[in-house]
Amino acid sequence: MILQRPALAKVNLALSVRGLRSDGYHQIESVMQTIDLADEVRIRPLRWGLRLTCHPSLSIPLDRNLAYKAAELFFRATSLRGGAEIVIRKRIPVAAGLGGGSADAAATLILLNDAYGNPLSPMQLEELGGQLGSDVPFAMRQGTAWVAGRGEQVTSLTHSCSFHLVLAKPVGTFLSTRDVYTRYQPKEESPNIMSAIVKALKSNDIATMAGLLFNDLEETACRMLPSIASIKQELRQQGAVVALLSGSGPTVFGVFQQENEAVRVAQTLAGKGYWTVAAHPVLSANSPDEE
Ligand code: ATP
Repeated sequence: MILQRPALAKVNLALSVRGLRSDGYHQIESVMQTIDLADEVRIRPLRWGLRLTCHPSLSIPLDRNLAYKAAELFFRATSLRGGAEIVIRKRIPVAAGLGGGSADAAATLILLNDAYGNPLSPMQLEELGGQLGSDVPFAMRQGTAWVAGRGEQVTSLTHSCSFHLVLAKPVGTFLSTRDVYTRYQPKEESPNIMSAIVKALKSNDIATMAGLLFNDLEETACRMLPSIASIKQELRQQGAVVALLSGSGPTVFGVFQQENEAVRVAQTLAGKGYWTVAAHPVLSANSPDEE
């Protein structure tokens, strides 16, 4: 038996980062959006042991791969005897602010739970995901959500706002989430405009939404990698209603009203040597049922 599912990337439509909590994590608030750029995760249950192959391979030890860690945690938490062969086809750029590792971990947990007869409820799976990384609970839920705490408080949002995205970053650039957060000086107070963004999404008011989007980490990431600012400018010049850093970067997303415009701009940026892709928001969420 082989089970597979796409591991979808995310962008942060808004990201507020406040001070450090006593557990060492920053307090965040974010409107997160799943997009249709995805890795593919496959698992084959084994009687015992864990194997993982990643194409192309990540230059990290096997047991540092978040999907591997997810499988270890699944078997520890359920006390099930068993194992799995995991194969990941990476399409989401690594260390790019698009949550690729978290998406792989979430997909692995969901697939293993399916393969072993659903011993864990969606709520328990999300809690387990939270032990692996701040973005994993949202990666399990998908869709659009208001995320708070260190990422473990996920409230799904329903809307039918229709827009198109162009993602772009300089080829071969990475930013370590930890480095960006370490250099970031938290503001006293972040603007409390999340609910205005949600309202704009719900009323399909792209112009208003575009004027509200923000990312507290953008200034820090731009200082670390000035080409981020050039990409933002390029996307704006090409007609994006807004262009913003996703997560801790370096990927920037531009918002477009028309799909053909987004496709044209992605082609133009590719011609200028950037890594780029046109993408769409994925609006449906996996709903966790309380035990
Ligand atoms: P964030 O979730 O903080 O936005 P990101 O999208 O910027 O993260 P990822 O692609 O998730 O970055 O990778 C972050 C780090 O995690 C990388 O340095 C990578 O070595 C490690 N990592 C572990 N497992 C994976 C995986 N399955 N895919 C990608 N990176 C992984």
